[in-house]
Amino acid sequence: DHVLDVGCSVGVVMFPTEADTVIDVVRSADIALYEAKKRQRGSYFVFTPQMRELANERLSLEKGLRHALQKDQLSLFFQPQVDGTGQQVGAEALIRWNNPAQGFISPLKFIRVAEETGLINPIGDWVMQKSLLALADWLQKDVPFSGNLAINVSTWQFARPDFVRNTQQLISQSGVPPERVTLEVTESALMADVQEVVNKLNQLRDFGVKIALDDFGTGYSSLAYLRDLPLDALKIDKSFVDEVAANPHQPLVESMIAIGKHMQLKVVAEGVETQQQLIHLKAMGCHFYQGYLFSKALPKADFEKWLQKNQVLRNIDQHLR
Ligand code: C2E
Ligand code: MG
Ligand code: MG
Repeated sequence: DHVLDVGCSVGVVMFPTEADTVIDVVRSADIALYEAKKRQRGSYFVFTPQMRELANERLSLEKGLRHALQKDQLSLFFQPQVDGTGQQVGAEALIRWNNPAQGFISPLKFIRVAEETGLINPIGDWVMQKSLLALADWLQKDVPFSGNLAINVSTWQFARPDFVRNTQQLISQSGVPPERVTLEVTESALMADVQEVVNKLNQLRDFGVKIALDDFGTGYSSLAYLRDLPLDALKIDKSFVDEVAANPHQPLVESMIAIGKHMQLKVVAEGVETQQQLIHLKAMGCHFYQGYLFSKALPKADFEKWLQKNQVLRNIDQHLR
């Protein structure tokens, strides 16, 4: 009873010049198809030999990633978030892949491969479990961890029909109060069916977890759409924060902070690297900050040391006041 609009994209490969075995032909055509889809829906792309190198790199990434989980090559780092006085108010969990052959591989590179191959599901669950384990440990051990631990959620994870139930289950099992957990989603995760997205977000928030919109301003969502979403925090992307260093007068960043405030959201600036940026962002009314100025993402033990130091500074600060 529904009208379906079907479109198609095409990947083209010349053979036997560019590929000579069946597997090669199919794989090369697939690579070209992927490129076509990436550029524009409903278009075609012709495979070129230069793409083979990229494809091989991607394939080895994919193969490696399949084993990364079993071989214990993934780890979780933590980056503090602070308020305008430098006091820790939260943290973000960030995944790292230590590949024996290639060293540390950036999540910017491998998360996409994980998404394309479906590996994002087990990896996402692993990130969630590890993050909750760390948080539970800090709450039990009396490590001076304030605020929430933010966990990145891929668009594909969020789209899973069982995402809410799965998340609730993992949090309940961990014994961590849901109120101490923030899920970071990007605009693309929220661009699906509005009603379904709103339902999911409401269920998660009713359970207690907080929702932050990551990389705000880099996606294609409209403000009218954002207005209807139940969110708790906005994270201003580093690309905008970078601009603040060059020129403190940034109407766009000011407006983004103002939008967050009007929507009653906490505003977090990402990628703050200099004192100057901090001063300007503070003047614009930003609430929280994350960036190398305070700390890079650290392994768990180093992050705990950072927390201890931050607490000492906090005590001194209070004493002086
Ligand atoms: P994101 O969630 O926006 O995370 C912030 C990124 O900015 C992190 O990069 C962090 O290390 C980096 N960063 C923070 N402050 C600074 C700074 O002052 N200077 C510079 N140059 N960089 C800064 P990272 O860890 O490489 O992660 C990149 C992206 O990969 C993340 O962006 C997120 O989208 C994705 N990602 C990382 N961990 C996970 C994960 O566990 N699950 C999923 N689904 N995605 C993840
Ligand atoms: Mg994030
Ligand atoms: Mg971000």
